[in-house]
Amino acid sequence: MIAEVIVDIAAGETDRIFDYLCDDGTEAGTRVRAPFGGKVVPGFVMRVKESTDVPPEKLKRVFPSPDGMPALNRECLYLAEKLTARYRVPKALVLRLFLPAEMRTGKVRELKKTYVSLALPLEEMTFPKTAKNQRGAAEYLAGHGETESGFLNGLFPGSVAALEKKGYVRTEKKQLLRDPYKGLEGTAPGHVLTPDQSAAEEKILSDGRTVQLLHGVTGSGKTEIYLSLIARCLKEGKSAIFLVPEISLTPQMLSQLRARFGRNAAIMHSGLSAGERFDEWWRLRTGEAKIAIGARSAVFVPLENIGVIIVDEEHDSSYASESAPRYNTFDVAYLRAKYNGCKLVLGSATPSVDTYKRAVEGEFGLIRLEKRINKRPLPEIEIADMRQEVRRGNNTAFSSPLRAELEKCLSSGNQAILFLNRRGYSQTVICKECGYVATCEACDVSLTYHRDEDCLKCHYCGARYKMLTACPECGSRKLTYAGTGTQRIAAELGKMYPSARILRMDNDTTSGKEGHYKILKAFSERQADILVGTQMIAKGHDFPAVTLVGILDADMSLHFSDYRSGERTFQLITQVAGRSGRAEEPGKVVLQTFSPENDVLRFAVRYDYEGFYRNEISLRAAAMFPPFSKIVRVLVSGEDEKKTVDTLRAVYLPLEKLYRENADKFLFFNRMHAPIRRIQNKFRYQVLMRISDTSVLPEIYDICAEAGNRDALVSVEENPANMT
Ligand code: ADP
Ligand code: ZN
Ligand code: ZN
Repeated sequence: MIAEVIVDIAAGETDRIFDYLCDDGTEAGTRVRAPFGGKVVPGFVMRVKESTDVPPEKLKRVFPSPDGMPALNRECLYLAEKLTARYRVPKALVLRLFLPAEMRTGKVRELKKTYVSLALPLEEMTFPKTAKNQRGAAEYLAGHGETESGFLNGLFPGSVAALEKKGYVRTEKKQLLRDPYKGLEGTAPGHVLTPDQSAAEEKILSDGRTVQLLHGVTGSGKTEIYLSLIARCLKEGKSAIFLVPEISLTPQMLSQLRARFGRNAAIMHSGLSAGERFDEWWRLRTGEAKIAIGARSAVFVPLENIGVIIVDEEHDSSYASESAPRYNTFDVAYLRAKYNGCKLVLGSATPSVDTYKRAVEGEFGLIRLEKRINKRPLPEIEIADMRQEVRRGNNTAFSSPLRAELEKCLSSGNQAILFLNRRGYSQTVICKECGYVATCEACDVSLTYHRDEDCLKCHYCGARYKMLTACPECGSRKLTYAGTGTQRIAAELGKMYPSARILRMDNDTTSGKEGHYKILKAFSERQADILVGTQMIAKGHDFPAVTLVGILDADMSLHFSDYRSGERTFQLITQVAGRSGRAEEPGKVVLQTFSPENDVLRFAVRYDYEGFYRNEISLRAAAMFPPFSKIVRVLVSGEDEKKTVDTLRAVYLPLEKLYRENADKFLFFNRMHAPIRRIQNKFRYQVLMRISDTSVLPEIYDICAEAGNRDALVSVEENPANMT
């Protein structure tokens, strides 16, 4: 038999199919090791056929990996074809998305252990007097049954080999699956759905459209509907994919899923070790687990017969991949839903403007849940006008309304969350004499002071610098800090409320496998009174004792130079506010701003998504911004400035030609430095386009695929979430 093989080596260079000899019975999707250019490299069988034009003396043989079944199923191969065509990236690169990284690189050995059991009844064995260990081991096996070989040899050294030689015992290798969440098992019943929830579920199931948008305020019971949909799939023998933004894989969510679905659920997230991730993946591939739960990469899991795909918090920017291939999770989920003939359910309290437009126009089903479970009111949001605070001489980060509420909250024994957009002690270090700003040598961005470690850090490349004692430009010692970070807030709070216990959660405090988990657990066990954090505390968490949320700098995200900043701000405020008053006591939110008259803030304070949407969509229509157009950014980056500029030219010229020949399809076309000119020593240039007609998109991708080279990376981003 002949196998058509894609070899998995560095991107771009060898995206071709090669013919190899293979064993009879080899199936498409099988991983192989293939001799290639004097080396043996990993590859995938894409197709199997009877004959080839390659002369027999040139035909080499591939070795199948000992997986026991093709690693990629038919649907994965189909998706790979589609995605390759859509994003014009090498197939090898797309195929990688479907496998755990550790499987590709072969670093993870399968955890096989040898188990020993008796081959004869104990009475039929004879042992010389000196063979105490053999006898001991045999007696242990008679009493305890099958035992792991290493364990037995630990008790009775040398016994296993000796007993095996005599034919007294049998050994068997078995795969041992690591279970990352031991002790979180069970099949707990769910809540009985309320009439509103049942009606929503019924509508999702009976509507003919593939995509269903579940628009429900925070706490309206969306999660319970997802779980009910998943439970239905299991009953019908089908599988399910449940996508969540990484950050909302909270301990509560994990234990809820474990309790409900036990080992039927495979949970993939970045906190798992390589081995654990591989095991979860393999359980899905073999069908042992039927529910995949994870961040965007879980959209590629090798499940079959999918009954529902759920994307929770569908507006979250983490669903867009920021490295090649820059797929959009929705696109992949949609292809899979179509392939399986199942529903794709998008859920959010604050849907993205793009999704909502498609729903109100009838392309997607739209289901609303307007009330919280038990009719608890949404917390009241009070605006604190920071201009007045400054006029009154208050230059701290805490307005008087916020302080009043904090005192009330603490004295009644409840918990508070303070939310801030920045991490670190302060934003930047500035010289008061000459205006020098400390910047990263590799990235052209300002550094952030971290007090715990007394150092300056670059948040783009992670580089660390010693804290300055004097200005490197003018020698002045008058250095000051600009901006306020989570660390500084926590420190100031400590001074204001010496008896309050304060926890901080941001990227600096959550490193390590269980960083998030520990902080959230401590807070939910009420080991602290106040939690100070960045947007990672905004989503998904359910702390019943939290009755106050403070949003310290609501303006921060409003002033980003991004067409989506209004949308982001609205989403953020709604999400953060949703953390307050989830249990019996009503919650309160204080929102601090320098622009209280801003439309977005005013809609957010009233939880008026519809009003926000109507306002926003008319602004977008007037300015011809997405969803009325598409922003396409071609980013060229490389370490060598000249070669990067050469590559920029190689994409710019044909793109400009395309633009001139199709001027009616373009709203904007320009070439410029990227907003951050250098990150991690790479120079960055971009061609920015806004197109009103996506028919030019494939050609843009082709031009960029053509121009990429060893020295400079060329990437295409559609409506990029992050325009740095
Ligand atoms: P959402 O996902 O919309 O924010 P959740 O599904 O987390 O809402 O529900 C909010 C709260 O209401 C949770 O504490 C949940 O356990 C509870 N809840 C949800 N559905 C029901 C129900 N049918 N009966 C009782 N409690 C429910
Ligand atoms: Zn200076
Ligand atoms: Zn840097």
